Amino acid sequence: MSTRTYIEDLKEHVGSSVTIQGWVSVRRDQGKMVFFDFRDMTGTVQGVVLPKSPAIESARDVRTEFVVAVTGIVNARPEKNVQTGKLNGDIELQVEGIEILAAAETPPFDISSDTSVIGEDTRLKYRYLDLRSERMQKNMRLRSRFVQLCREFLFQNKFAEIETPLLTESTPEGSRDFVVPSRHNPGNFYALPQSPQQYKQLLMVGGIERYFQIAKCLRDEDLRADRGFEFTQIDVEMSFVTRDDVMSLMEAMITSTVETMGFTIKEKPFPRIGYKDAMEKYGADKFDLRTEEDKANGVLAYAWVVDFPFFEKTDDGRWTFTHNPFSMPIPEHLDALMKGENLGDILTTQYDLVCNGFESGGGSIRAHKPEILKATYKAMGMSDEEIEEKIGHMLQAFKYGAPPHGGIAFGIERNIMNLAGESYLREVVAFPMSRGGQTAVMRAPKPLTPEQLIELGIRIDKKA
Ligand code: ASP
Repeated sequence: MSTRTYIEDLKEHVGSSVTIQGWVSVRRDQGKMVFFDFRDMTGTVQGVVLPKSPAIESARDVRTEFVVAVTGIVNARPEKNVQTGKLNGDIELQVEGIEILAAAETPPFDISSDTSVIGEDTRLKYRYLDLRSERMQKNMRLRSRFVQLCREFLFQNKFAEIETPLLTESTPEGSRDFVVPSRHNPGNFYALPQSPQQYKQLLMVGGIERYFQIAKCLRDEDLRADRGFEFTQIDVEMSFVTRDDVMSLMEAMITSTVETMGFTIKEKPFPRIGYKDAMEKYGADKFDLRTEEDKANGVLAYAWVVDFPFFEKTDDGRWTFTHNPFSMPIPEHLDALMKGENLGDILTTQYDLVCNGFESGGGSIRAHKPEILKATYKAMGMSDEEIEEKIGHMLQAFKYGAPPHGGIAFGIERNIMNLAGESYLREVVAFPMSRGGQTAVMRAPKPLTPEQLIELGIRIDKKA
């Protein structure tokens, strides 16, 4: 077979014979001639099968969504047929041969128009077809590009990409854990990570200094348009840094990434605002700084929010953390934390990045000394035994020379939704779950077999 030419490169081959491979988007049988739109991952092109073409018979067998290898001559279109501003609007393929690589049944919905109006069940059952639609193609590639650019930035800045375990111990991130039964230790369970928070801090103790990971996080939360059970973070941790160091470097990463992608940022450097001022001014810690005109032009309005309260009261009157129990208070309030005084007034080093009314990322400088971390847990009313049980391993690790460190995590889906102008998570995730928590295409959750249950030592209570 001759080498494949990508559809976006056809214009470089005017006058020559080439072979493209892809799908049939449109077929228009006009009696004598048959017209096609062919599509691959790089674009679409019009093909014409003339009455005398050797391909005229096979052209009549081919249907929409067939997978084909098409050989033909790239012709400039006559002046009157040129479609300006469109990829390949000035060329067409004079088809000489069509090889059917795979036939296709008629898709259950039209993938050539906006699929966001299709019912969720159908769309997710046939997600692989939905992914062929223009919008999903664009969103998936936008996501890939965003991650690629962040990754490249981080590598250029001495970061190492390191994976942390998925089967791990429950972490105090504030949500419910997903748990996995252990066959080797019946009655015992792993938890899937709500974030790599503790491992990334342990990597700092391990001398890695600059870590990042494109990390899957799993939280058993109530599902919403912008929140799923699993999501992906660009997770970062750095040693020997102040709050300003982390914020500046991450601002540089986001700025260079989105500007390289062609987006406009409303204000640089990103405005910084205290939590109290934000609440007074905007009534929320996630606010939208865009004007109507900015919105129409797809402008990105970033802002940092800092100086959050470290603690808040729970419904039963105890203190709990607002963001992250591993954070350091701001330096001026360290003394109060160590003494356990004025807990409601203590501010944390937490920084949140907001963009267009949503949270783009968040992180903090961490308590890197065991006595500081312990004071945080004491402030939340925990006994020495409870503290040992929950974070004994962290306190132990911090005894061996932990560098001052801090980090941040950016939710990829949330950021891509902003860039793509989408309001639903499912538009930026390849295989999202349904609103009811069912997986796309595959069939989970589902019952285990009796054999599996026995192996795991699990008995299911039959609900009446
Ligand atoms: N672990 C935090 C989160 O998942 C992010 C961080 O503080 O780095 O929100």
